[in-house]
Amino acid sequence: MQQAVDSKERRHSIEPAEISQESNTKLRITWADGQVCNYESALLRRACPCAQCVDEWTGERTLKSAAISDEVAIADLTIVGRYALNFVWSDGHQTGIYSFQYLRELCESATNVLA
Ligand SMILES: [Zn+2]
Repeated sequence: MQQAVDSKERRHSIEPAEISQESNTKLRITWADGQVCNYESALLRRACPCAQCVDEWTGERTLKSAAISDEVAIADLTIVGRYALNFVWSDGHQTGIYSFQYLRELCESATNVLA
């Protein structure tokens, strides 16, 4: 019984309550469970999950971090369905679909690195 409640809350927690583009290089997501995540555009661009940036078969990242400028900016941002964000980057790349779950994982792994 308790477990059912937990998994329901976990699903709830990966929905954003607010998505705020602070500047063209900073994005802030406030999640439904109250956690606030701040993202730098270069980090998000380098984490692009699309088929051009990650090998579909092996899951290996083919995009090299060094290939992305630290100055890369968010040119546009749209919500895909109710589960993901799609960014248009200042370098013209726009095929990445970032699920809310993926964004939350990126935020949590970045926090772990800092901690
Ligand atoms: Zn990509």
